[in-house]
Amino acid sequence: MKLSFSKIRTYLECPLKYYFIYILNFKTKPKSYLSFGKTIHSTLSEFHKLEPYPSFDDLRKIYEEKWINEGFLDKEEEEKEYKKGLLILKNYYSKNIFNYNKAYMVEKEVIYKIKDILITGFVDRIDKFNDEYEIIEYKTGKNSIEYNSIGLIDGNNILQMSIYYLAFKYQFKKYPKNIIIYYLSLDKDEKIYLNFNNNISKETVKTILNVNNKILNNNFYKKENEFCKYCDFIKECKEWKR
Ligand code: SF4
Repeated sequence: MKLSFSKIRTYLECPLKYYFIYILNFKTKPKSYLSFGKTIHSTLSEFHKLEPYPSFDDLRKIYEEKWINEGFLDKEEEEKEYKKGLLILKNYYSKNIFNYNKAYMVEKEVIYKIKDILITGFVDRIDKFNDEYEIIEYKTGKNSIEYNSIGLIDGNNILQMSIYYLAFKYQFKKYPKNIIIYYLSLDKDEKIYLNFNNNISKETVKTILNVNNKILNNNFYKKENEFCKYCDFIKECKEWKR
């Protein structure tokens, strides 16, 4: 079985949605927030391939080239989002240019294997300092951030980064020193350092095994949730009978 964080997240959100997308291969519609997020990710990936010290104009040109125009309601909404992205990148640039570093790797595929399950994922950026690594994941969505003793409370983020953490160790034979989520929005430009321990890793492995078993047992049921209103398969879901 081949899994990825997106597949696991989709299954946990709604097993029937997983079934529509990954078993029946129904296509999802383009969405403006996904286009926006992908644009910012690929812009920063390209940017961090440059030698020190690139100019803001270098960053702006990459942004222009990488812009994805799918899923917007109209030209007006697209322009508004474009300007928003430019402002976010301006903040990012001014905050990071003085300690700019060329990334060790960007959009690196990492692989983790448990039993006969292969889990893949793409880490946005890996930096290397001396013999230590740092993994960075950019987030452009609106996230509420709360803290507790283990850091950030956001089940999906913890699960995603924990999978990357395990996969990194699996491939690089060493845990990364820092695991960072970098939040990018108009009112937030903030790096959050996550702390992982054995308990979180055990929980992650348990979740992967559990999702894998349920998929193998064709356990696809409707799970109504807060994202139903954005689901591309509302009609199919209503008609669904098993
Ligand atoms: S509408 Fe909700 S319950 Fe139905 S498939 Fe989509 S996410 Fe699942």
